[in-house]
Amino acid sequence: MIIVVKNSCEQSQFDNLVEWVKDLGLDVHVSRGENSTVLGLVGDTSRVDIDLISSLDMVDKVQRVQEPYKNANRKFHPEDSVIDVGGHKIGGLNFQVIAGPCSVESEAQIIEVANAVKASGATMLRGGAFKPRTSPYAFQGLKGTGIELLLKAKAETGLPVVTELLSVTDLDLFKDVDVIQIGARNMQNFELLKEVGKTGKPVLLKRGLANTLQELLMSAEYIMSEGDSEVILCERGIRTFETMTRNTLDLSAVPALKDKTHLPIVIDPSHSTGIAKYVEPMSLAAVGAGADGLIIEVHNDPKRALCDGAQSLNPEQFDALMGKIRKIIPIVGKKYDGRD
Ligand code: PEP
Ligand code: MN
Repeated sequence: MIIVVKNSCEQSQFDNLVEWVKDLGLDVHVSRGENSTVLGLVGDTSRVDIDLISSLDMVDKVQRVQEPYKNANRKFHPEDSVIDVGGHKIGGLNFQVIAGPCSVESEAQIIEVANAVKASGATMLRGGAFKPRTSPYAFQGLKGTGIELLLKAKAETGLPVVTELLSVTDLDLFKDVDVIQIGARNMQNFELLKEVGKTGKPVLLKRGLANTLQELLMSAEYIMSEGDSEVILCERGIRTFETMTRNTLDLSAVPALKDKTHLPIVIDPSHSTGIAKYVEPMSLAAVGAGADGLIIEVHNDPKRALCDGAQSLNPEQFDALMGKIRKIIPIVGKKYDGRD
C-alpha cells in the first residue's frame, strides 16, 4: 500500500502517522519528494482501513498495491486448489457437473431426478430445502424434511449433495450435506459466512446479484479466514439493465477470477439466463471459458415445478446437453469423472 502525504503537514502529524502504521506491524519506507512524501507500507496490509487513512487532511491519496484478500489470493497459492467432494475432485484439471431441481418437492421427485441426472453423467446432486423466495407467499422449501429426502437420494445414487443454508440456526441439519451452498442473496451475510467457515465443509459461494468479483473474493476470504479452505466460487448472473434474460451471465468472471484466485469456479447457466433453452449454449460457453464445473437445474416435470420451472431442463434435455459437454471437456484440457 502506498500513502501519499502532503508536505504541508506538520512534522508531528507525519510522525504520528508513521508510528500508527508501524503499530499495525508494518514496515514503512519513506521517500521525500518536492511537494509530497510517499510512504510505502510493507507487510500484510489486509487489516489497514484505507478509507480512514484517505480521510486524513494530510493525506493526498492512498493506493493498494496488493489485494485485500490473502487466503483466496493466487499470489500466495499459485497452484489451483482441488477440492474433493465425496471422491469427486473439482478444480485444477477436474471438471464436475452438479444437477438437480431448484427445490426438493417430494421423495418421488428428488429420487427420480437424482437417478436421471446420474444416468446422464452428473457427479453431484443439487436441490434446495430452504428456499430464498422474493415473495413470502411462494413455496419456501421442505426445510428439514427436504434435507432428509436429499440424503435419501444420496443413499440411493451415491451422488454427493449440494444444498443452500439460509440461516445459522439450521446448521445442525447440514452435518451430512456434502457441500453447503451460500446463495446470491446471502453472499455478504458475514455472520453466516463465518459460521460455515467453522464447519470445514466444502462451500459453494454464489456471487451476489449486484456484487463485484472483488467482493465475492472478500466473502470467500471470510469463510477461509475461519480455517475452511474448501470454497467453490459460483457465477450465477448479475443484475444489469438487460431484461431479456433473468440476469446477465458474466462469463468473463471465469478468466478474471482465475487470474486472482486459486479457487475453483462453477457457472450456473440456469439462474443467469432464467430460460431453459439458453442453458445449453451458456453451459457450452462456460466450459470453453475454462470453468471448473456447472450447476444446472433439472426437473422431472418443469411445467409443474414449485420453483424455477422456466429455467429447468427436463431429463432428456439434460442428457443431450451432457453429451455435448463431454465432447468439449477434453478439448479444453480438463478431465471429467462422470459417465463415459
Ligand atoms: C438456487 O440455487 O436455487 C438459488 C436460489 O440460487 P441463487 O442464490 O443464485 O439465486
Ligand atoms: Mn432456483
